Amino acid sequence: MKEFVGIDLGGTKIKGIRINENFEIVENVNIERYDSSSTESITNALESVIKSLDTPEVLSIGFGIAGFIDAYLGVIHASPNIPALKEIGIKSIFEHKFGKEVFVDNDAKAGAIAELFVGSAKDTKDFLFITFGTGIGAAIISNGMLVRGADNLAGEIGHITLDPNGPKCGCGKLGCFETFASGPAIKRIYIENIKNYDKLPLLEYFSNDSSKIDTPFIFKFKDVDINAKNTLKYVADKIGLGLSIVVNLLNPKKIIIGGGLGMSLKEIFDDVLKSFYKNTLKIEAESVEFHFSELGNDGVAIGAALLPFSKY
Ligand SMILES: [Zn+2]
Repeated sequence: MKEFVGIDLGGTKIKGIRINENFEIVENVNIERYDSSSTESITNALESVIKSLDTPEVLSIGFGIAGFIDAYLGVIHASPNIPALKEIGIKSIFEHKFGKEVFVDNDAKAGAIAELFVGSAKDTKDFLFITFGTGIGAAIISNGMLVRGADNLAGEIGHITLDPNGPKCGCGKLGCFETFASGPAIKRIYIENIKNYDKLPLLEYFSNDSSKIDTPFIFKFKDVDINAKNTLKYVADKIGLGLSIVVNLLNPKKIIIGGGLGMSLKEIFDDVLKSFYKNTLKIEAESVEFHFSELGNDGVAIGAALLPFSKY
């Protein structure tokens, strides 16, 4: 049976997967921490993962990587989480090493391909895949095809401006969607508002050291800590607004939410929907379905393995 390898290259972890032609997972290999300091150390780590997954049945190797990727040439222009990866022709490097066809794409686009073939979007051709974590990643599938744009940058939803006077984003602009709806953003908003309250159980839990407060705790304390509650209400409002902009533009059938923070959004999704319905054209809002990804941490690696099946 034909097999396909997919690799999810993250800032600290590498996840490798081998699937068969029925799109079933045959094998999984994970490295929890690798040396990302140089191109050589990264390619060495990738090579060892691929070697342990490779068999004579494997036809191709796919990579899903956060960053600016030329999917046609298989070149990583830049990756915000892995600064050593700059202008790297990863396709040619690994085709030379393994003698198999290599595919490379942005991690959100790989995640969307996985949803299309084996996830929550199997029955639709028009959907948006959006991940919430340290930032926002997204990919648009329209009529069964990835929307790439001129430079493979279509789907940079995290950098839609929600407030031109808002906080500074990692991209240099002000008030981007992800400055209101990422793990670091939620922590920042909570800490900024501490001064407005007399007594906060979450702050006391960390002995009044606000630097120790982390986003999962803000969710955990939302029913007992008024600042946590109000922070998450504010964030839910912004997420609903951000999603409304995308839905008004693209009219997707489904929105599939992934990522670590994305899964926590289930807890505040009633508030997200209130803001979404308030801001979205009624006829479009009524037809869109929201789903949380069921592929979990495997999505990007599965999608990377499926890249040879996606239509460019
Ligand atoms: Zn930005």
